[in-house]
Amino acid sequence: MTDVTKPDILSMTLPELKEFVVTLGAPGYRAEQIFAWLAKGAAPAEMQNLPKAFRETLADSIEWRLPQIAEKYVSREDGTVKYLLSLCDGECVECVFMEYHHGNTLCVSSQAGCRMGCKFCASTLNGRVRNLTPSEILGQVIVAARDTGKRVDGVVMMGIGEPLDNYDNVIRFLHLVSDTKGMGIGLRHISLSTCGIVPKIYDLADEGLPVTLSVSLHAADDDTRSSLMPVNRTYPIAKLLSACRHYFQKTGRRVSFEYTLIAGQNDSVPQAKKLAALLRSGMRCPTHVNLILLNVVEETGLVRPAREQAERFRKTLEDAGINATIRRKLGGDIDASCGQLRIRKLADNPDTENTPE
Ligand code: SAH
Repeated sequence: MTDVTKPDILSMTLPELKEFVVTLGAPGYRAEQIFAWLAKGAAPAEMQNLPKAFRETLADSIEWRLPQIAEKYVSREDGTVKYLLSLCDGECVECVFMEYHHGNTLCVSSQAGCRMGCKFCASTLNGRVRNLTPSEILGQVIVAARDTGKRVDGVVMMGIGEPLDNYDNVIRFLHLVSDTKGMGIGLRHISLSTCGIVPKIYDLADEGLPVTLSVSLHAADDDTRSSLMPVNRTYPIAKLLSACRHYFQKTGRRVSFEYTLIAGQNDSVPQAKKLAALLRSGMRCPTHVNLILLNVVEETGLVRPAREQAERFRKTLEDAGINATIRRKLGGDIDASCGQLRIRKLADNPDTENTPE
């Protein structure tokens, strides 16, 4: 188990680390050296430009732990790598490394499980066990970069969990991962995906962090959306779109919408027309719709539409002046959409849930 009496060094920002090294009797500039090492995945003992005695003091004074790779799958189709990572208490999360022409992107998890209850999603099947700490989110980026030997250029918070349901830790992660003295991943290369926790969208707009907001819409009317996403009963579409407009006005960042197409539920041409009308009147600013073909999760009984249906939906949006693309599926041979590995692992070892090491 994590030693809670010692500070978790990977969750410290650089200014906090400076204060901390001074309490250990070292000069403040050591913090920058340590911060750079941590971003590379080095343990205190490996930090070669620190005096040996100080490395030992540091190692004794802090908690340093990276997620462990429990399972790893490499796609033979496109090199996508999917990791099942185990955390200090035996909890597991997933992350996926993808290579695009514009750079390498890592999809990270923000919670172990999820409590949002979206009907199509594997991550929420067993509810939420706990929030990830900032260092556990950052640890996914460090481990994936180290294991692949490649730079992570961008991050999408589209793995397991609802990032805005773990708000403070996610904000701290954004500060940590974007610090140029550490991993230096530009905030403009980070997307945060949410099911639509409206008050937290307003909070995020006030943070002054230019991340791309990606909103999981999945329906153009409240009845359909509430039947797929319980969060819509608390924050219906009109309130959600107002928050998205505010986000754009405050940050200048275009909001994008995710729309998972589910056969017979939300994939008809009239529904596409309704979506176009909704976004035109509701957003009045540049938007983009990412269409995703449902990744079938057997427990849900929901069905993936045919590719032609998705193409018709996209064309209808485009004809109505709404920018839309069907998301290219990477790692098709390794089941790369998130939540499914963790669920399988839980089914294999039901007793490991919540069991400390
Ligand atoms: N909690 C965040 C991140 C979730 S995962 C959110 O709700 O946005 C990222 C995207 O994948 C979301 O749009 C989510 O709705 C979608 N998604 C989840 N399960 C899916 C599935 N089985 N098939 C296709 N898309 C899915």
